[in-house]
Amino acid sequence: MKLVDSLERFSNACGVTGREEEVSDLLKTTLKPHVDEIKVDKLGNVIGVKKGAKKGAPKIMLAAHMDEIGLIIKNINKDGFLQFSKLGGIDDRILIAQRVMVHTEKGKKLGIIGSKPPHIMKEEERKKIVEIDKLFIDVGASSKEDAQKMGLKVGDVISFDTKFARITDDLVVGKAFDDRVGCCLLIEVMKELEQTDCTVYAVGTVQEEVGLRGAMVSAFRISPDVALALDVTVAGDIPGVKEIEAPTKMKKGPVIGVMDAGLITHPKVLNLLMNAAKKAKVDYQLETGLAGSTDAARIALTREGVPCGVLSIPTRYIHSPSSILSLSDVKKAVKLAVAAINDAPRTF
Ligand SMILES: [Zn+2]
Repeated sequence: MKLVDSLERFSNACGVTGREEEVSDLLKTTLKPHVDEIKVDKLGNVIGVKKGAKKGAPKIMLAAHMDEIGLIIKNINKDGFLQFSKLGGIDDRILIAQRVMVHTEKGKKLGIIGSKPPHIMKEEERKKIVEIDKLFIDVGASSKEDAQKMGLKVGDVISFDTKFARITDDLVVGKAFDDRVGCCLLIEVMKELEQTDCTVYAVGTVQEEVGLRGAMVSAFRISPDVALALDVTVAGDIPGVKEIEAPTKMKKGPVIGVMDAGLITHPKVLNLLMNAAKKAKVDYQLETGLAGSTDAARIALTREGVPCGVLSIPTRYIHSPSSILSLSDVKKAVKLAVAAINDAPRTF
């Protein structure tokens, strides 16, 4: 499967945090031909292994999270409207008027996030952000009982209903690129990787968006010598964002994380990645000081500690229903990661 097709399938698949089955099934089938073994652990992490040629060579863990931000039904009111909470970091301002899919035991139901129309708002109401507790999802139910008959219940998860599209030769738009592009990177890297000395684990993790939970248990199981999180980061090349706030840009190559809120990249991993970029003739960007973090933050603190790094795809509008990224950045990230893996035995 070509990268763009793989990204389309992964982006359109739904896997709100804690309910990643659709994505993990897809990852299992697409990763399987490129690894020696594949299994799913007790929490749902997908772990593919490519065995190394040399005994004693380092074990490398690549982690990409399968879950996406979403919503969850908190209450169904007497008129059949759904009130909801957030799963992961979502800005209230992006919720109004979105089309969503509610995942029920009777299948997916389309809904719209409704709110009071501006025509009947008071002047001061219009200036305010409509907070989540004033929003509701309209699934067309006429009462609570009607909604229940449709299969809806408290705890059902809700994903954004966005379809993947290519907007230029190089740019694509879709939901959940955070971190389905990482899932695609896992596949592409394992596909490109010829026999290496190292044993490489490609791990699709669960529940990253609510606290890096899947990474924690999968890293414990694998006990890697070095690990890389493959994820997305903010592309700041849009109106209203100052360079000092987010200097990383789309189409300027993958981003090597130096430091974020949860991880200071191990200096050996940083050097490995920068040298690999040089070798693979790939341009890259360095990033520090981001408020968020990745699976690498949790993996680094596993057992007696794991040298970790982060390789990200600069992505516009992350944690919203529609993000944009550049396929050329993804292809460069694959080259960089493969070069780093091939080079790792010299360092670790
Ligand atoms: Zn992410």
